[in-house]
Amino acid sequence: MQLFSREVIENRECETLAAFAVKSGQSQGRMYATSVDSYRTCFQRDRDRIIHSKAFRRLQAKTQVFVSSEGDHYRNRMIHSVECAQISRGLCRTFGLNEDLGEAIALAHDLGHTPFGHAGEAAMNEILQGFDLHFEHNEQSLRVVEKLEKISPDFEGLNLTKEVLDGMLKHHTPFDRPKMKFVYSAHLEGQVVDLGDEIAYMSADIDDGLRSEVFSFEDLRGVPLMREILERVSHGYDLGIFDETLRARVSNALMRAMVEDVSTESQKRLLENKILTLEDVQKYPAVLISFSPDFRIALDLVRKFLLENFYHSPRVKAQTDHGQSIIRDLFSAFLKDPSKLPERARVMMADGERIEVVVKDYVAGMTDTFAERMWSEM
Ligand code: MG
Repeated sequence: MQLFSREVIENRECETLAAFAVKSGQSQGRMYATSVDSYRTCFQRDRDRIIHSKAFRRLQAKTQVFVSSEGDHYRNRMIHSVECAQISRGLCRTFGLNEDLGEAIALAHDLGHTPFGHAGEAAMNEILQGFDLHFEHNEQSLRVVEKLEKISPDFEGLNLTKEVLDGMLKHHTPFDRPKMKFVYSAHLEGQVVDLGDEIAYMSADIDDGLRSEVFSFEDLRGVPLMREILERVSHGYDLGIFDETLRARVSNALMRAMVEDVSTESQKRLLENKILTLEDVQKYPAVLISFSPDFRIALDLVRKFLLENFYHSPRVKAQTDHGQSIIRDLFSAFLKDPSKLPERARVMMADGERIEVVVKDYVAGMTDTFAERMWSEM
C-alpha cells in the first residue's frame, strides 16, 4: 500500500483543486525557515499548531454572546471557531479551494479576542485610545500567532505560513470593522472564512437568542427572511412541533439559506469575471465570495434584529457591562502595579515594549473566568 505522504497530498491538490485555489506545495513559506513534515502539508501543520496553542484552549472560556456560565448549550468562542471552520471547509470544498487553508484561518480568526465578547473588545479599544493606541481583535489574533505564543526557542509565535497570516489579516465582517476601509483577500480561501464567520455567528445567535428566551419565535416573525423560514420549516406540522426542534430547524434553515446564496452568487461572480487563476483573484478589485445583493439586504435586517433584540437586550447588556468594568479595573490595576504582571510580560517590558501594550496583551488573552477571578482577588 501507499502512504499518503505530504508529496502525495500536494500532488493531489494540484490534480483536484480549482486553478484559483492556493496549493500547499506552492506556499510562500514561513517567516523562519523550518524543515518540512513527512505527512502533513504546510497548511495542515498550521492548523495543528493553532489547535494545540494555548490561545486556542482559552477560547473555551471566552464569551461569544452569552457568558459561559449561563448554560452548557450556548456557544463560547471555541465552539464558534469550530462552527466557522466547519462551514468554511464546506464552502472551500464546493468551490474547489484548499480546505486545509480555510480551516486553519477559521480556527485562528478569533484567537486574539478579548474576554466578554464584543463588549470586551469595545472596552479595550476605548481604554487604548486614551494612549493613542487601538484594539481590533483581528489584529490581535495576528499578534497572538506572530508574537505571543511561544512554542520554540528559535522563533516567536507559531511561525505560520504567509497564506494563513494573509487570510487572518484580511479577515473582516461588517460587525468586525464597521468603520474600517474594506480590504480584499489575497486568496479566495480567506474570503470564504469571512463569510463562514458570518454564517456561523448569525445562525448560532438566532439559536442562542431563542434558547435563552431573550426573544421569541413571534418576535422573529417581524423579520421578512425569518418569517419566510419559520413558515417553511413549520409547514405540514399541524399538531405543532417542539420548540427545541423548531429552534434547530430555524437556525439550520438560515445557515443553509446563507450557504446556498453564497454558493450561487460566488459561482456567478467567478464565471462572469472570468476568474481562472490565483493571479486573477488577486488582480480583481472586489470580493468574489459574497452574498447576492438582495440576500444581503434581507440578512442585514436579521442582523439589525439581533442587534436590537439580543446583543443590546437588558439581559445580555447586564453581563457585558459587568465584563467591561472588569476589563477597565484590571487594566488600571496592572498599569499601576506592573509587578502583578506575569514574568513573560515583564520580560517584554524590559525588551522595550510599552506597558500599555503589555497589559493589553495580558488582559485581552484572559478567559472570562480568569478575568473574573483576578478581579475579585484584586
Ligand atoms: Mg468570529
